[in-house]
Amino acid sequence: MACVKANGYGHGITTVAEALSQHVDGYAVACLEEALALREAGVDKPVLLLEGPHTADEVAEALAYSLTLCISNWHQLEWLESRSERGRINCWLKIDTGMHRLGFSPGDGMTAYRRLQGCVADSTKLVLCTHFARADERADSSTEKQLRIFDDIVAPLAGPQSCANSAAILSLPASHRQWVRPGYMLYGGSPFADATPAELGLKPGMQLSGEIISLRTVPVGDRVGYGGRWVARRQSTIATIAAGYGDGYPRHAPDGTPLMIEGQRSPLAGRVSMDMLTVDVTDNPAVRIGSTAILWGDAPGVDEIASNSGTIGYELLAGMPQRVRREVQ
Ligand SMILES: *Cc1c(COP(=O)(O)O)cnc(C)c1O
Repeated sequence: MACVKANGYGHGITTVAEALSQHVDGYAVACLEEALALREAGVDKPVLLLEGPHTADEVAEALAYSLTLCISNWHQLEWLESRSERGRINCWLKIDTGMHRLGFSPGDGMTAYRRLQGCVADSTKLVLCTHFARADERADSSTEKQLRIFDDIVAPLAGPQSCANSAAILSLPASHRQWVRPGYMLYGGSPFADATPAELGLKPGMQLSGEIISLRTVPVGDRVGYGGRWVARRQSTIATIAAGYGDGYPRHAPDGTPLMIEGQRSPLAGRVSMDMLTVDVTDNPAVRIGSTAILWGDAPGVDEIASNSGTIGYELLAGMPQRVRREVQ
């Protein structure tokens, strides 16, 4: 079950769905809008709404588009029970084993399961699922504890199960069960702070690049960009790149954050603007107008840029704006 929410982690939801179509059994999204984008693009595999319906009306829309609903509270269950769609919809049932975000409490799990059985098209396809809070922390024991709580509830039940996100797929094989739900790893990202994609055998799927549109010499003591954050300690060559925070590059990136230009790492110099950013290329004489700067990709990786900027690669990918042109290779 490929997680393609947030516009396919910024890559373009329909592009990703098409690229993965021979390799996956379904797609998971956060909301109805994303599910409809997939259906309108002709996707006919199962599409799972991870948050389930947000309103009673969304139950009817889910049926109209043959979506699978993850049911995680009594309101959603009652909407299903009270509607004529009852008995025709595919569902998953979510148990809250410790994340405390969505799901029925362990004590309610059995009752919810029995009632939901009466609402679904095919109760042998009713998937029991949970979600881990700390699977990215490989030394932490709470993921195994969550799995034990889950197993205690589902032991008497026959249906298929789903627990694992990327981190659990990579670190806890016992959690794999019938359906896995990879997200970040599908795009070549490492879910662990202490492991690179290469160490995990993953290859980044996205390269974000921009063009050098201006080059200038800046004398010692002059400042570059908004607020004059960067000061030239020597006579410097500054390259301006046509990409900024309006293109998904983090505004909080500090001076020194690397960009790859003409095969060499060059440091960010000055605050990132909406549409442009500036780089010190004094030590990179091959740079020309028209050179390509790699903002992230194989190197530097998106996680390196993210950690420099106080966030995670997930947030940078999920925030990729519409205006960035996607080229598929
Ligand atoms: C987003 C999400 C995933 C995928 O998580 P990754 O860390 O990107 O693999 C899996 N399950 C649920 C419920 C999610 O919301």
